[in-house]
Amino acid sequence: MSLQLQISGLSKTYANGVQALKDVSLTIPTGMFGLLGPNGAGKSTLMRTIATLQEPDSGSITLGNIDVVRQKDDVRRILGYLPQEFGVYPKMSAEAMLNHFAVLKGIHDAKARKEVVEALLHQTNLWEVRKLNLGGYSGGMRQRFGIAQALIGDPKLIIVDEPTAGLDPGERNRFHNLLAEIGENIIVILSTHIVEDVSDLCSQMAIISHGRVLLTGDPANTIDEMKGRIWKKTIAKPELTSCQERYAVISTRLVAGRTVVHVLSESDPGDGFEQVDPDLEDVYFSTLSRAGEIAA
Ligand code: ADP
Repeated sequence: MSLQLQISGLSKTYANGVQALKDVSLTIPTGMFGLLGPNGAGKSTLMRTIATLQEPDSGSITLGNIDVVRQKDDVRRILGYLPQEFGVYPKMSAEAMLNHFAVLKGIHDAKARKEVVEALLHQTNLWEVRKLNLGGYSGGMRQRFGIAQALIGDPKLIIVDEPTAGLDPGERNRFHNLLAEIGENIIVILSTHIVEDVSDLCSQMAIISHGRVLLTGDPANTIDEMKGRIWKKTIAKPELTSCQERYAVISTRLVAGRTVVHVLSESDPGDGFEQVDPDLEDVYFSTLSRAGEIAA
C-alpha cells in the first residue's frame, strides 16, 4: 500500500491567543496535495507541525506507521522541506551548498554524494549555473534550488510552503513542471494562496481558512459540483455595492476597466446574468464566502 499521511483533530493556539488550527483532520495520499487558503489561514502552522518543527496542542499525525509528533527523527529521515523563508548563503555556489546539505543529511561517502548532487542539479535544471553564487540567482532559480535541497536523501514526503509567490509566469511554469515530476511517487504537500498552483498540479486538495478545513476533494470533482450555480455579469463599478446587496457575489475582477462579478445562485438570477463554466477560483471563493470568511 502506498504511503499516507493522516491528520486527526489537530489544534494549535499560540501564546498570543491566536487559534491557528481548529480540529483539523485530513487524509493525504501519495501524489500532489494542495493546501489552499488565504494568508493567515494556518497553512504554515500546519506545514511546520507536519515537518516536526513545532507541536500541536492536541490531535495526531501519522505517516504510514510513524507517529509524526513523537517520532520526529523518523520523520526527518524521510522528509524534504522547503520553508516559506528559505535562507541561503549568498556567497556559496549551488553545487557547494547542495554538497554541504548532503553531508548534513548523512551522505558521507564522497563519491555517492557527488552523484546525488549532480543528479539533483540536472533534475532541477541548475546544472549550467551550478558554479554561480546563490546570491545572484533569480527567484525561480532559488526555488528550484530549494527543491533540490529538499530532494536530498530520497524523501517520501515533501512539503513546500508558498513556493510560487513572487515568481514570474515562466518561472512558475518551470517550477510546476518540476513539482509534477516529483509528485508521482511520493507525498508532496503544496501550501499556497494561489488557486492556479492547485488547479495546475494537484490531484487532491483542501481549502482552509481561519484554521479550519472548509472543503476537501479532487479539484475536478469540486468544480463539477459547482456546475450550473455560477453566474456572471459585467457591470460598471458604481453598481457593485447594490449588486453585492442583492446577490451572493463570490468574486469581482476588473477586465478592461469594467467589473466582472461572479455570483453563486441555485437558479437564474435574471437581471442580465449569464451562466459560466465554473473553475477552481469559483470553488475557492464560493467556499470562503459561504463560510463567511470574506466579503467579496
Ligand atoms: P498562513 O501560512 O496560512 O498564512 P500561518 O500559519 O502563518 O498562516 O498563521 C496562522 C495564524 O497564526 C495567523 O493569524 C498568524 O498571525 C498566527 N501566527 C503564526 N505564527 C505565529 C506565532 N509564532 N505566534 C503567534 N501567532 C502566530
